[in-house]
Amino acid sequence: MSSPPYVTVVGLEVHIQLLTHAKIFSGDANRYGDTPNTNVGVITLAHPGTLPKFNRRVLEHAVRLGIACGSEISMHQVFDRKNYFYPDLPKGYQLTQDKTPVCRGGQIGLVLKDGASRMISLHKIHMEEDAGKSMHLEGRNESAVDYNRAGVPLLELVTHPVLHSGEEAALFLSEVRKLVQFLGICDGNMEEGSLRCDANVSVMPEGSRVLGKKVEIKNMNSIRHVQRAVDYEASRQTEILQQGGEVISETRTYHEEHGKTYSMRMKEDLNDYRYFPDPDLTPLELTKDWINEIRKSMPALPNQLREKFITEYGLPAYDADVLTESKEMAAYFEALCKEIRHYKSASNWLMGPVKSLMNEHQLTTFDVPPARMAALISLVEEGKVSFTAASQKLFPELVRTEELPMDIAVRLDLLQNRDRDAIEQLVKEVIHEFPLKVEEYHSGKKGIVSMLMGEVMKRGKGKLDPRLANECIIRKLNES
Ligand code: MN
Repeated sequence: MSSPPYVTVVGLEVHIQLLTHAKIFSGDANRYGDTPNTNVGVITLAHPGTLPKFNRRVLEHAVRLGIACGSEISMHQVFDRKNYFYPDLPKGYQLTQDKTPVCRGGQIGLVLKDGASRMISLHKIHMEEDAGKSMHLEGRNESAVDYNRAGVPLLELVTHPVLHSGEEAALFLSEVRKLVQFLGICDGNMEEGSLRCDANVSVMPEGSRVLGKKVEIKNMNSIRHVQRAVDYEASRQTEILQQGGEVISETRTYHEEHGKTYSMRMKEDLNDYRYFPDPDLTPLELTKDWINEIRKSMPALPNQLREKFITEYGLPAYDADVLTESKEMAAYFEALCKEIRHYKSASNWLMGPVKSLMNEHQLTTFDVPPARMAALISLVEEGKVSFTAASQKLFPELVRTEELPMDIAVRLDLLQNRDRDAIEQLVKEVIHEFPLKVEEYHSGKKGIVSMLMGEVMKRGKGKLDPRLANECIIRKLNES
């Protein structure tokens, strides 16, 4: 079937749960996984007469994200009440920012699979409180509510409708996740709901300037689900239009196992929420000086580090991408580069043996001191230990013990023979025994070198420095 002449248009709303000790308007702990309804003081539970008190830490986090995205920071902000009834919302309204979002505009860059880059423009970022969590108890005709999450600080980041596929949406979300982790404002843990995403999806005929009717897919907490849900929804809508039907504006939910979206409810009119400024909170007035202080305390961002790894350390773009996937890995690489000049080898070690070890044991940090790692890499670079022996035998011991890499190499008998005389002796022997091969070499069959190399290494019991042996073979061949 040929692809239909429809374009997919996606806008994302990402809810980012902030890393703070306390909630946004009370001193109750902001902590995931506690016993239900233990972090619930009178403000969280909306007891009559209680007043919210704003946690400035939330504003700092928001401004940090805004600076990272190049957004305009609002100097004057108020909190608004978004009124609706739901059991997980004790006050009967959510405190959010309607007219004065903390950040306006800005953008986040993506590098697409084909290497092309795209800037995704943001509409706004605003601060708000999370609601509690309703739990529909399985097998029982009852629901329970955990208010621990009520009042947990959130940033809601809203893009313009500028993404064009499930893949782009997924890529954007992973970029946001990386960014908030590097900024240290969110743990990015999607399984625990620290990042949740709503997607507005519509399709329109190619070349059209009028956006189609949009459908909102609610509350996805996995990057893969976002990708699949967007793609499913786009093809569902395209099919409806192709058959002459009409797309209905509605809210849908994505069912992971079916890989499909299902209708939840018709889209509420925005006015239903009857937003108005909260009279209990004083407006926030920001100063340029305060914003500049935050600007000065900004950590290096993934795209800046990526650039630095390419230009300063001469890494290929691929390596730079992999190493800046996590803050810990990027920091480790930089620490390692302070100890060793072989930057590309350092990168190979991190992307290879270190990463597989971490995956195997599901580690998020790698705690071998960089100096020890550097000493190991140097043994390989200096030809004292082969890469294979170093990665398969020495490295596991390096992680397990506190021994010096050189001592481990001696103990495990991994040191390569770098005795030039001994190598030369073996090479002479081999060349003497294979006169026909030497002739073939001189008649142009350069592949003979690796055959002779294998023979020499075998006689050296696999412990010769391969570089020295190779050099020696070529020298002797050319002399003969
Ligand atoms: Mn929201």
